[in-house]
Amino acid sequence: MFIVSARLESRIRPDTSVEFLKGVGPGRGGVLHENGLSTVEDLLYFFPFRYEDRRHPVRISELRHIDAPVTIRGRVVSAGKKISPIKRLQIFEAILDDGSGTIMLVWFNQPYLADKIRRNVRLAIYGQPRVSNRGRLQIESADFEILSADDESEGEGTIVPVYSKVANIAPKAMRSIVEQAIDALPLMPDPLPEKLRERLGIVGLHSAVLKLHHPPELDESFLTGRSPAHRRMILQEFFSFQLALRLRRASEEQQKKERTITIDDRIRDRVRSVLPFSLTGAQKRVLKEIAADMQSARPMYRLLQGDVGSGKTIVALIASIIAIENGHQVALLAPTEILAEQHFQRLGQLLDQSGLRIAKLTGSSTAADRRTLLAALREGYLDLIVGTHALLEDAVQFKSLGLAIVDEQHRFGVEQRKRLFAKAKLPDILVMTATPIPRSLALAIYGDLELSVIDELPPGRLPVKTVVRGTGQAAKVFAFIEEQVADGAQTYIVYPIIEESEKLDLKPLTLGFEMIRERFPKLRSAMLHGRMSSREKEETMAAFQKGEIDLLVSTTVIEVGVDVPNASMMLIMDADRFGLSQLHQLRGRVGRGPRKSYCVLLRNERASEEAKNRLRLFESTRDGFEVAERDLELRGAGDALGTRQSGAPRFRFGNILRDHKLMELARDTAIEIIESEGYEVARELALELIPQAAATAGKD
Ligand code: ADP
Ligand code: MG
Repeated sequence: MFIVSARLESRIRPDTSVEFLKGVGPGRGGVLHENGLSTVEDLLYFFPFRYEDRRHPVRISELRHIDAPVTIRGRVVSAGKKISPIKRLQIFEAILDDGSGTIMLVWFNQPYLADKIRRNVRLAIYGQPRVSNRGRLQIESADFEILSADDESEGEGTIVPVYSKVANIAPKAMRSIVEQAIDALPLMPDPLPEKLRERLGIVGLHSAVLKLHHPPELDESFLTGRSPAHRRMILQEFFSFQLALRLRRASEEQQKKERTITIDDRIRDRVRSVLPFSLTGAQKRVLKEIAADMQSARPMYRLLQGDVGSGKTIVALIASIIAIENGHQVALLAPTEILAEQHFQRLGQLLDQSGLRIAKLTGSSTAADRRTLLAALREGYLDLIVGTHALLEDAVQFKSLGLAIVDEQHRFGVEQRKRLFAKAKLPDILVMTATPIPRSLALAIYGDLELSVIDELPPGRLPVKTVVRGTGQAAKVFAFIEEQVADGAQTYIVYPIIEESEKLDLKPLTLGFEMIRERFPKLRSAMLHGRMSSREKEETMAAFQKGEIDLLVSTTVIEVGVDVPNASMMLIMDADRFGLSQLHQLRGRVGRGPRKSYCVLLRNERASEEAKNRLRLFESTRDGFEVAERDLELRGAGDALGTRQSGAPRFRFGNILRDHKLMELARDTAIEIIESEGYEVARELALELIPQAAATAGKD
């Protein structure tokens, strides 16, 4: 039915504004513009989110409990609200009849449906049939469309595309609008030239776009997003993304840094003199990679990934010594004041005999200290500065910033990097993370970083024994803590209060703290959270470090980096409310010393099945990479690992997990193109691709 060539006469072009389409006009035009659909081309990239196969309508009498949603059409024979046995749960039910049989439809907490779904209304519904508790087949929370007589004959015997709703535009009207846009498809230029399409192994744009609006078949490869049309769109997204990243990197690399770093025997001796232990093989390997970057004429931009406790700090320290001994300064950025303080202490100890000058700057440094520090940095009287984001402020200027180290990258993005670059002639940048991002995701988020991985723990680490208990067993758990403390262990007790959230409600923590004090009157306990003054935080952490506190009752503020080897017991309250990656970060606080360590997770008896599964999984795995992969599967890439904040891109077609091979292909191809065609040509290509990338991103 789409005889594209016959429509070539059409006056509609890809850049035509949507108002000029039939049935649009200024009113709907405005609505479409507001929703990012301004031109015909935008509509071509506005793909259906599902399809209705009207060639083989599903009959109610043939429905079974199956794992896939179906579309059925029929007449409502009865509809009404139902009294629910659960408080504040509103139920609306309707019975749909298609002549072959009837099925119950159920919606929750949508009482207004009563106005729309009435007796005798005709509906197309889309949902998954399940067997209810009562043993009958029903469809819950179905997607529906109210049909007029006219709608019913639409698309008969074809596969009908279903677009996501744009404001109040009826689905059928939307279809007719997109249909007109498809007329202009032959005029749409393909932003990926043929040679590149061959390299990527993809079909042309016209064929892919047409198939996505009007698939000839709904076979498995199509429905699972693996058809050639999908592959084309995924690679277009990934390639645009990788090309942009690599170009940014290439433009930085074209500039040479103005310092030469050399590593001679004097520096090697220096490093040896501060090392308190011998490095693991993995630490040595990543140090070689870092040293090579630092000595090259191009700025380093490297991600150092290593599970919690793998020993990233010492690697950072050695890199710092290399920079400093070559006459440059180093900035170490930590995400929290607690971590900045800890790094400051730790590095201070290690560098004690070295004569290097080190200082700390955070948001709560006094004005006088700050003035002195800023002057010393500017004049070159400071070698290493440790601090929080306060270091990124414009007022912070260096005599010669050679290396910037960003610890725990959670909140480090492009913006921060720009600010660092503004402070020096292309400083080397080392981003350290304990978040074990799978390689595919690392490429997606940090496609322009090189990756070094510490995949080995320091010798002698005992695995942390992890157990999940119901709240009913709290008394036993507390007795165990008592034994452990009597044996000399220190304990973290963590409440699920996420420090980054805006409305920080400390009540669960303060109540918990009271409860703990009552339960353990003889033990020395203290509370720690982000709202305490930095003096209080420092004092509390210092006391804990010195072993003067037995029980530290805390929020997730201790999640990253805190290193107290004698703390070998962790109790996580309401553990079912934490995600996997976060649990892994928390658990990483114990198992850092010679003591046998324990991580006990208390979960609510009424935790959901999903939460219980998550905790069971956590109990059985120690490997951070496995945790991260599972977390991705459970939560989806957009959400996992806090990547939303850290700027992980979201793709319309591509799924980072499923399509990681394609992401690697896209990256390799982007690198090749820049090398073979040159920067300018690649940049032109990227400019062509940008509108498409923007059009397909972020619509979900
Ligand atoms: P992370 O990678 O989580 O930042 P740290 O750098 O804090 O880990 O190191 C964790 C602990 O392991 C620290 O107490 C550190 O002193 C110790 N450590 C690091 N490397 C080694 C090593 N090669 N041998 C022995 N202990 C080490
Ligand atoms: Mg660390």
